[in-house]
Amino acid sequence: MIWEELTHQLESLSKENLTRNRRTLESSCGSHAVVNGQSMLAFCSNDYLGLASHPVLANAVCESAHQWGTGSGGSHVVSGHMSPHDQLEKALAHFVGAERALFYSTGYMANVGVVPTLVGRGDAVFADRLNHASLIDAVQLSRADHRRYAHCDMAQLEKMLSESTAKRKLILSDAVFSMDGDLAPINELFELAEKYDAWLVLDDAHGFGVLGKEGRGSLNHCKLPFHPRLVYIGTLGKAAGVSGAFIAASSTVIEWLMQRSRSYIFTTATSPVMASALLASLKLIEQGDDRRRHLQTLIARLSDGLDNTRWKLLPSFTAIQPVMVGENDAVLKVSAKLAERGIWVPAIRPPTVPKGSARLRISLSAAHTDEHVEQLVHALKEIK
Ligand code: PMP
Repeated sequence: MIWEELTHQLESLSKENLTRNRRTLESSCGSHAVVNGQSMLAFCSNDYLGLASHPVLANAVCESAHQWGTGSGGSHVVSGHMSPHDQLEKALAHFVGAERALFYSTGYMANVGVVPTLVGRGDAVFADRLNHASLIDAVQLSRADHRRYAHCDMAQLEKMLSESTAKRKLILSDAVFSMDGDLAPINELFELAEKYDAWLVLDDAHGFGVLGKEGRGSLNHCKLPFHPRLVYIGTLGKAAGVSGAFIAASSTVIEWLMQRSRSYIFTTATSPVMASALLASLKLIEQGDDRRRHLQTLIARLSDGLDNTRWKLLPSFTAIQPVMVGENDAVLKVSAKLAERGIWVPAIRPPTVPKGSARLRISLSAAHTDEHVEQLVHALKEIK
């Protein structure tokens, strides 16, 4: 029968320790989350600034729901684009220093929406090997040639660019890598984009709100101003504490996306309530230097705490602090031992990361205290 194959595939996933399991949370996920009636110290959320449970955002949601209703009722290009969406786009563009911005429902949709709009058959995308899955899918949707260079290897990227005969070229990279936490060589990427007349598309899902002056993101951190060849994607479900994403670029690119980007056009606009919450969040991000400073203190504390232990953190100065373990069963065991101690750190396995590089992905948040990090360090030291 046609479904039997699926049963076998599920069995083989389980044998390889690759089954994904989800926990149902009985509370919001701040520094702690309640699971099965137990409060766990949580290092698993991308709510890097601790804004997802902020009362100012909750109030913005309630007020907005009364004024605008809960649903947009239409696509942005028909009847779903309301004042909160419009204000948000203008505020986001201004915040990151771009001419214009376009608000998408999720980062996944922004990514699959932008790449096929800029390149197609006969063109080539030059992509970092560790790019996020949504960027990989975006290239496949575009039908452009997918050329992948070793992680942050600028020499290999330049060789590929110089040998390419593609009509249009696009360089595509995470700005902060989602499972490693390191920053892409953004200035070098831009120089190569200039030299070979390519687009540069950067996904700053994990840098927006965290890096740069007042949280303006990775481009700001690297002091790279906007340019007509630069397309920036920020997501709003992580540091911004809500959901959604935006693309910031030149007016021409944004206008073209509005005309052609299928995941922007053929979907219902996100609820105006979310846009209102995001407007409130943007102000908190801008005023969030204390939160960002605290986050940096926690990062330093974790790295000092694990120094000279068997747990090796990958080099990262962002909120994503991965500990490399290697094998799938080993990482599952460590994660389970932490859970026994009331600590939640997710085990990340292939295909999310390359085979043999399973890891603990510790996400720090400004919602954590020094003591929380100490607790984690202590627990890791105890585990054999
Ligand atoms: N890009 C990167 C680098 C991500 O890590 C993620 C989410 N994990 C996304 C895009 C997708 O964003 P969203 O969750 O808003 O769909």
